[in-house]
Amino acid sequence: MGKATGFMEYSREKSKERNPLERLSDWKEYSAPLSDEALSRQGARCMDCATPFCHMGTEINGVTTGCPIHNLIPEWNDLVYRGRWKEALERLLKTNNFPEFTGRVCPAPCEGSCTVAISDPAVAIKSIERTIIDKGFENGWIEPRIPVKRTGKKIAIVGSGPAGLAAADQLNQAGHNVTVYERADRAGGLLTYGIPNMKLEKEIVERRINLLTQEGIDFITNTEIGKDITAEELKSQYDSVILCTGAQKQRDLVIEGREAKGIHFAMDYLTTSTKSLLDSNFKDGKFIDTKGKDVIVIGGGDTGADCVATALRQNANSVVQFGKHPQLPTERAADNMWPAYPQVFTLEYAYEEAEAKHGEDPRQYSIQTKKMVADENGNLKELHTIQMEKLKDENGKFYFKEIPGSEKVWPAQFVFIAIGFEGTEMPLLSQFGVNSTNQKIDAKYGEYRTNVEGVFAAGDARRGQSLIVWAINEGREVAREVDRYLMGASVLP
Ligand SMILES: Cc1cc2nc3c(=O)[nH]c(=O)nc-3n(C[C@H](O)[C@H](O)[C@H](O)COP(=O)(O)OP(=O)(O)OC[C@H]3O[C@@H](n4cnc5c(N)ncnc54)[C@H](O)[C@@H]3O)c2cc1C
Ligand code: SF4
Repeated sequence: MGKATGFMEYSREKSKERNPLERLSDWKEYSAPLSDEALSRQGARCMDCATPFCHMGTEINGVTTGCPIHNLIPEWNDLVYRGRWKEALERLLKTNNFPEFTGRVCPAPCEGSCTVAISDPAVAIKSIERTIIDKGFENGWIEPRIPVKRTGKKIAIVGSGPAGLAAADQLNQAGHNVTVYERADRAGGLLTYGIPNMKLEKEIVERRINLLTQEGIDFITNTEIGKDITAEELKSQYDSVILCTGAQKQRDLVIEGREAKGIHFAMDYLTTSTKSLLDSNFKDGKFIDTKGKDVIVIGGGDTGADCVATALRQNANSVVQFGKHPQLPTERAADNMWPAYPQVFTLEYAYEEAEAKHGEDPRQYSIQTKKMVADENGNLKELHTIQMEKLKDENGKFYFKEIPGSEKVWPAQFVFIAIGFEGTEMPLLSQFGVNSTNQKIDAKYGEYRTNVEGVFAAGDARRGQSLIVWAINEGREVAREVDRYLMGASVLP
């Protein structure tokens, strides 16, 4: 273990963040790494407890607990404490294909179940992970690993998000010929078009795609399977196909006034913003510009927070985010005890920035939009809302009740709908003849086989909208199953 008394001597040090007002003037990453000394102290805080809950990777009440890819956290904590960074990298890469993504944007369910966190703030696991991989790239320890032997088997992966990339990486290393098809103009899935640049700079995604390309994986972008190439054509050209198409079908708000101009899905807002930034540093004007406008984001989750941060950078006049649920408590509730993920109030980057710029947290809780109203030209001008009370019925089931007299009118020229995703897109599945339930592909976790011979599925397309770390987990596991299907056995983890 790190230092036997480390957890008593040192406190948690969080990864540093750039000054909120300063970072609002650019689109660069908002977080910055801790120093080597601070990370060594964090490594020293790890107790190497007998049962490391941090890497169990399961769900408690439907919420992720511990690391889903079972990162060997206590082992690399110890190595970092001792300054043995290269060995820490070797341990990290045994379980995680892309720590440079998770070390930046994973919500770190490992930290919620860290044993130190029973009584003190958790070991800064995510910050340690990020620096291990960053040092790997900086020191040239990450080099293309070109497989020496090829099996002659051909695999097509549809979708280049973290699930598709992890599956491609594993299968390529097993010696198969892998082609990844992506309908967008850049690979990366939501890592590229979804998560904004200030959370994950796109050079970091490109660096990994370039490395995978050097290792022998073919990426074919601007190609939509189902339109540019049919399912039948793809199946006939490859020994196996993996569907990693994500769950990007957005949930709409069926409400009076929805047709007004100025109402967009969050993903359209975020994607066009990133594309315009990457293509021309916004010179092409091909993005939704909220400068000087009143913006309301409907949906209290992380996608909504990313819209808030984007609107703040565009110098919107005002930014408000509506959430259906009440504000979370500042400490764990009785039904949310360790090692479950802590459901507590936090000030995410976007809210910290809003406070710095506009003097207040943009979140409005327990609020429901009743209607949207346009002006005489059809442009959105205001939203009408009512406050809700969250109550429990006699069976313990939650329900919401309107509070009479709490109606309010909010000025808004732009609304971004961020109320979640319905699932994966159905037309492609029909073409493949793949079965699904509730817009998720039917393929058992751990097996990943669909009802169609040779066709597998992984990531959000199978699981529903989730986390990068689960996508990596499923990508790794589907690779093992495809390898076994093609070769009769597999040594992949
Ligand atoms: C705005 C936003 C922010 C998020 N932030 C975080 C975060 O901070 N941390 C975190 O852990 N998770 C975050 N998530 C969730 C995370 O990004 C996803 O769970 C993860 O990307 C899923 O990976 P995937 O590979 O299954 O699918 P995706 O990343 O969705 O990739 C699927 C890819 O398939 C392509 N595709 C679909 N159909 C076809 C077709 N017919 N032909 C060719 N290509 C096709 C799509 O274009 C897409 O590129 C966020 C999600 C959103 C929407
Ligand atoms: S991938 Fe996420 S859960 Fe796993 S160790 Fe890293 S931050 Fe923690």
